[in-house]
Amino acid sequence: MRAATGVGDEVEATMRAVRLTAPGVLEQVAAPTPTAGPGQVLLAVAAVGACHSDLHILDAPPGLFPTPMTLGHEIAGTVETVGAGVTGWSPGDRAAVYGIIGCGTCRACLRGRENQCRRVPVGGIGLSRDGGLADYVVVPASRLLPIGELDLIQAAPLTDAGLTPYHAVELARPALRPGTYCVVIGIGGLGHMAVQILAATTAVRIIAVDTSMAALDLATRMGAHHVVQAGPEAIETIRAIVGPAPDGADVVIDCVGVDATLTTARTVVSTGGRLLLVGLGGGTLPVRPVADEPPTLPLETSVEVPFWGTRAELQEVIAMGQLGLLTADVQTFPLERAPEAYDLLRRGEIHGRAVIVP
Ligand SMILES: [Zn+2]
Ligand SMILES: [Zn+2]
Repeated sequence: MRAATGVGDEVEATMRAVRLTAPGVLEQVAAPTPTAGPGQVLLAVAAVGACHSDLHILDAPPGLFPTPMTLGHEIAGTVETVGAGVTGWSPGDRAAVYGIIGCGTCRACLRGRENQCRRVPVGGIGLSRDGGLADYVVVPASRLLPIGELDLIQAAPLTDAGLTPYHAVELARPALRPGTYCVVIGIGGLGHMAVQILAATTAVRIIAVDTSMAALDLATRMGAHHVVQAGPEAIETIRAIVGPAPDGADVVIDCVGVDATLTTARTVVSTGGRLLLVGLGGGTLPVRPVADEPPTLPLETSVEVPFWGTRAELQEVIAMGQLGLLTADVQTFPLERAPEAYDLLRRGEIHGRAVIVP
């Protein structure tokens, strides 16, 4: 977009953007307002979720992510303008953004699994190109999904904090039999959504684990049947619920992924159970499938490392939001307080999801 000045010539319009300006440096700057090219849409950003992955981007060594780059990959907004050749979208339409941009041609992309793209491992809006922490963002029209009357502040966290645990639950669904136990470790942005997805789409008994009592209260409100405070006695407490080995939890979803949570996860999972490592905490999961005492993993256990989700799954997550089955517990911040939101997230002081409202 260009704005005319009083003297007849044109100057480039600018907007506010919260950018990674150098490795580890996040700041609000004035950036050129982008324009929608062919096949693209300019979206007026209404809400952007703050994700732990953004902290990983901030902490990444030089060269892994481009600079300057606007952060923010959990986006909802309204269409401002559409580029050439875009059909099906008009100014004023409300939409959520599917953040992954795969190559579109590899074996995985062709099957609709862009989250498994074999050529662009972390290609995405706010990951490899400018994201949504700004007044406007340009996205390929193919990345937009309609949200109807769904609240835009609710829609934003559905695109990652909702989609990622939904995809994990989809992977584990054959094991989520009625009456079995599913342990969810870490009741933050993703975990509190995981609890709701399990409550709404399965008949499992949900055990929520977190260090914070406030997070456990949230889990109870979201449908957890048992809550366990993380700590030295957590494994014993969970075992008292799920029974002694080789029995245990059929499914464990670890939304944290540090050594302590991975130890809990592998110790309470049942023989033949499934471990889903959703959190990118950098912990180590030892695999020693021999007759050790105790074994590091029960026999027949499978370990999966889900990543985000597919466009089809996001459509289902949005439907759950529209049906009132999935509601993000949000704490909102104006754009200029985005750096503060990330500081609070880093310190574990955000309950549910922080959503930045430009
Ligand atoms: Zn994320
Ligand atoms: Zn691909």
